[in-house]
Amino acid sequence: MAKTTLLATWREPGQVAIKAAWERRASGGSLRDALESGLAASELDPTLVAIGLGALPNADGEVELDASMMDGHDLEAGAVCGVRGIVPVISVARKVLEETPHVMLAGEQARRFALSKGFEVRNLMTTDNVRWYEEWRDKPREGTEEYVHALSDKEHHGDTVTVLGWEAPSHVVAASSTSGLAWKMPGRIGDSPIVGAGIYADDEVGCAGATGWGEELWKAAASFRTVEYMRGGMSPQEACDATIRQMIRRQPKSTEMMCVVLAMSNSGEFGASCTTGEFPMWICQDGEIEMRLFGVPEI
Ligand code: ASP
Repeated sequence: MAKTTLLATWREPGQVAIKAAWERRASGGSLRDALESGLAASELDPTLVAIGLGALPNADGEVELDASMMDGHDLEAGAVCGVRGIVPVISVARKVLEETPHVMLAGEQARRFALSKGFEVRNLMTTDNVRWYEEWRDKPREGTEEYVHALSDKEHHGDTVTVLGWEAPSHVVAASSTSGLAWKMPGRIGDSPIVGAGIYADDEVGCAGATGWGEELWKAAASFRTVEYMRGGMSPQEACDATIRQMIRRQPKSTEMMCVVLAMSNSGEFGASCTTGEFPMWICQDGEIEMRLFGVPEI
């Protein structure tokens, strides 16, 4: 097997994802297979509040999922957004990539597509997330503060698992799966399924991904920007730092909630950076798995 490095975001869901991704890779899977298996494992674990089954719902109490995959070999990409009642949505995104001429399918039509491919409708709410939702819904709040509250809900902020994969000598794939922000406005889509915002991959250079406050990351075109910084000669760490510095300078409110970019070059070097706090990232190099913390770059 070619030398392989895999990266996955956030502690518990990232750990599940990186282990499952490596297992698939070690049993002969391609990078696409590995990233899909990693995200699917995290989506299908009902004890993880992060993504898929048991994730935190929108303001109507419905789980709406987004996912994407991009292959650096030919820049082929597939994504779904605002999908209800289907897991794993990363597998639906991959089917969009491989079995349609399109890049993204949305909402009910994405669900119809999934059903036509043999996926089954599932109730994604668990006893715990029904209870958390009802607690949130019944809290007194003032008008327009409603969704801002969702952004600053530290306890219940919905995670995204973004995974990057590299194989020697120079192939990369990026993928992401999310339930978006907890208690989001129904129909709201964040950066994760958006090519250029939540993920980007180009074998000529490398790949990048994002997680955190999707509106800010999308406005920054964070993943594309980071790959383009690498194209200009920066290392992955320098490129992530440059994107985050740019965000802090041009989008100062991006420091109010963590925004993260991670990147890997087409030679397997990697880095990550965030607008505030400390960001945990899992790294798997040929089966050796460890978690490292990444921080805010010096301004
Ligand atoms: N980026 C995701 C979104 O805004 C959320 C997250 O990463 O936690 O939809």
